[in-house]
Amino acid sequence: ARKFFVGGNWKCNGTVSQTAELISMLNQSTLSTETEVVVCPSQVHVQKVTEGLRGDVSVGAQDVWTQGNGAFTGETSADMLTDMGVSWTLVGHSERRGKGESDAEVAAKAKYALDKGLKVIACCGEPLESREAGTTNDFVFPQIKAYADVFTKEDWKNVVIAYEPIWAIGTGLTATPEQAQETHADIRQYLGEIAGSDVAADTRILYGGSASGATAPGLSAKEDIDGFLVGGASLKPEFADIVNCQG
Ligand code: 13P
Repeated sequence: ARKFFVGGNWKCNGTVSQTAELISMLNQSTLSTETEVVVCPSQVHVQKVTEGLRGDVSVGAQDVWTQGNGAFTGETSADMLTDMGVSWTLVGHSERRGKGESDAEVAAKAKYALDKGLKVIACCGEPLESREAGTTNDFVFPQIKAYADVFTKEDWKNVVIAYEPIWAIGTGLTATPEQAQETHADIRQYLGEIAGSDVAADTRILYGGSASGATAPGLSAKEDIDGFLVGGASLKPEFADIVNCQG
């Protein structure tokens, strides 16, 4: 069985004191032990979070560099993150792909991170034009293929996929449970074709895009929706409701 997974992507938010408040909010929350929980603060707040957060919530980075330490101004290496107690990283968020990150670069980031012992939340998702044209899979499958081209079967054990339709991110337009389920099932089937049926059966596929305490129960009831990647609501007490949405 695939353990339910909820990630909080804090994006580019938080003062020092707001970060301390988020840590204490999480430390005081009742969080289901049936759910694996990861929060991804800004890189500048990561160390404070790894030091202050309860042990049953893991810390992830929002991005990672393709290589180790060196002359790469502004980048953060997987080596630095693991040294700080970070255990996960996002790669390929649409907010970074939109700045020009290619499928191949995203996959290279993921592969380097995995090789250094980080686990990876591998993002994908289509823009509104693709959804409206009925070409969602044509957009999303190459993103999945780029990951599969570089991941081994062992790597896949340390990967979750986050399907985040761009039109649903930050818009309040959550995908319906039916829309999300259809795409999750398509991704899982495709994963079976390119990575093997065991990988398809075992890999968790999260939904992201305006997930909330109100929409999480209906989405999580769907067979192929194994959790959430939460943006805005991860900065609020509502995050615990999403973690606990399976009842
Ligand atoms: P929202 O939940 O704010 O729509 O953001 C989703 C997201 O992009 C998480 O990575």
